[in-house]
Amino acid sequence: MGAKKEIVEQKVEKITYTCDFCAKKIGGEDWPWRHECHICGRYACSAHGQYGDEPGDYPNFYCNECWKIGEDYRKTMKEIEDKMYEKIEECEKAWHSAAKSLARENNQKEKKI
Ligand SMILES: [Zn+2]
Ligand SMILES: [Zn+2]
Repeated sequence: MGAKKEIVEQKVEKITYTCDFCAKKIGGEDWPWRHECHICGRYACSAHGQYGDEPGDYPNFYCNECWKIGEDYRKTMKEIEDKMYEKIEECEKAWHSAAKSLARENNQKEKKI
């Protein structure tokens, strides 16, 4: 009954991250959660992993193993992307020229009236 003062010990969770390839501790200036491989989920230090070349401020992180096996895939992806951009450009040009000729046609009609 009443008030009872008690000193309680607080438990704080602390996670230590280590590289899954060489057991080196990951942390310090690096953000540990950004050292988790985007594909396999293993943790890798900066010697055993790297950031991808995706556009944007936060590229994905990959362990060396996943990055290396992806070399040919990335090459193919890049080729598809380049072709895709070429096609988009072609399509855009066709659209613009169609719109321009339509505008020209309508301008001529207006002049006739
Ligand atoms: Zn390592
Ligand atoms: Zn990986």
